[in-house]
Amino acid sequence: MPFLVIGGDAAGMSAASRAKRHRPDLDVIVLEKTADVSYSACGMPYNIADPSRPIDDLVVRRAEVFRDKQGIDLRTGIEATAIDPEGQTVCARDKEGREHTFGYDKLLVATGAVPITPPIPGIDRPGVMVLKSLAHGRAMKDFIDRHAVRKAVIIGMGYIALEMCEALRVRGIAVDMIKPRASFLPWMEEGLADQVRAEVEARGVGVHPGHRIGEIVQQGDRLAVVAPDLTLEGDLVIVAAGIAPASELAAAAGLQTSVAGAIAVDARQRTSNRDIYAAGDCADAFHVVTGQRTWIPLALRANRAGWAVADNVCGIDRRLAGVVGSAVFKVFDLQVARTGINADEARAAGLEPETVVIKSRSRAHAHPGASDIWVAMVGDRGSGRLLGVQMVGRDGVAHRLHAPAVALHAHMTVEQFSLTDLGYAPPFGPTWDPMLTAANQLLKRL
Ligand SMILES: Cc1cc2nc3c(=O)[nH]c(=O)nc-3n(C[C@H](O)[C@H](O)[C@H](O)COP(=O)(O)OP(=O)(O)OC[C@H]3O[C@@H](n4cnc5c(N)ncnc54)[C@H](O)[C@@H]3O)c2cc1C
Repeated sequence: MPFLVIGGDAAGMSAASRAKRHRPDLDVIVLEKTADVSYSACGMPYNIADPSRPIDDLVVRRAEVFRDKQGIDLRTGIEATAIDPEGQTVCARDKEGREHTFGYDKLLVATGAVPITPPIPGIDRPGVMVLKSLAHGRAMKDFIDRHAVRKAVIIGMGYIALEMCEALRVRGIAVDMIKPRASFLPWMEEGLADQVRAEVEARGVGVHPGHRIGEIVQQGDRLAVVAPDLTLEGDLVIVAAGIAPASELAAAAGLQTSVAGAIAVDARQRTSNRDIYAAGDCADAFHVVTGQRTWIPLALRANRAGWAVADNVCGIDRRLAGVVGSAVFKVFDLQVARTGINADEARAAGLEPETVVIKSRSRAHAHPGASDIWVAMVGDRGSGRLLGVQMVGRDGVAHRLHAPAVALHAHMTVEQFSLTDLGYAPPFGPTWDPMLTAANQLLKRL
């Protein structure tokens, strides 16, 4: 009986490839409902920004390579419709509507996530688009080219919304952003979020948080996003209002779900059924800082969880420590990074957070190219533990995050982190790295 995988992107293809590497004799079948497998969704905003690059540049490995070189029975254009855990079978439907049944010895659900489309009248109009799959990216890029888009409205202000805002501005398209919630980046310390907002506004983008959207209407050649006190027109409307785990199939089969409806898994990525695993954006994870279940849908975790499933299916006992929620993104010239939890999340987890916000420099004093770095660092008054770091700046932010991320994995106290031996040379930072300065300041308050 085969190792059957539902979903052929980051988590699913990582698992299928590694399982085949461990055991070339293993029968590995992957069901993927679209025509696309193994592509970099994360690269889509940057690809869309560049009209000269075909979107298929983002395909990391083509389906034929998985089939011909790796011996994976990869079936595209076939959608799993039901899982029968008792009978150990999966029902699926192909593009012609034919029904198929696949038996399995071990099953991996790697169905990813789906974009949230709020129930706004007119959200289904042509020209209102989401960006999740490669097909979405293809459609969006094609739409921008064919309709010579001059103006766009983005609903949402999360990282994908901000990356798309930059991509559109690079193409000379005017952008307005709108969302119902009043705060710009609610998870971020206000002082740091203000830096990001200022960067976006400095590029001529209209930033309109705190507006409940009533409807999307056709207004002449254009669409209009209508709120009670504001109407924003655009040739294109991008809905970037978040994602939800694609867990219906698993839930309908009786598998346990947890945070945000994600499929609950243990450290081995096993679901509540011992023969069924889940990995990637559809599955939850343990948060290393809180010890609680969390749902943080990002690419490294999806790939790593896929590997862990392959190991366990092939008899190698692999348990994952969990995630610390490290995430980085870029918006125009600003790098934005976070790891761990913020003060609100700490309080919700029963901790006693103390936060310090500092401004430091990315390179040594007066070194060419040095610029400001803002750091927010959170520690726990009770235990002295480091809980999280946020950072914003133009230089040296993204990779600087790795030090506190590792410290969180090691459950370090702020004091222990403040005593770590980080590297120094003028082109890379001040003698006291901004991470150490923040830790020293936080230590005084704990
Ligand atoms: C625009 C964008 C930018 C991003 N940028 C970053 C970034 O910078 N950093 C980062 O860490 N992450 C980023 N991400 C998130 C990252 O892409 C995801 O975490 C990752 O793709 C998750 O992989 P996955 O395999 O779990 O799910 P997916 O990539 O969603 O793949 C799931 C697959 O399952 C298939 N499927 C679903 N249901 C069925 C079914 N019933 N039958 C058959 N097939 C099915 C889907 O068609 C899909 O191909 C970004 C995402 C987007 C959209």
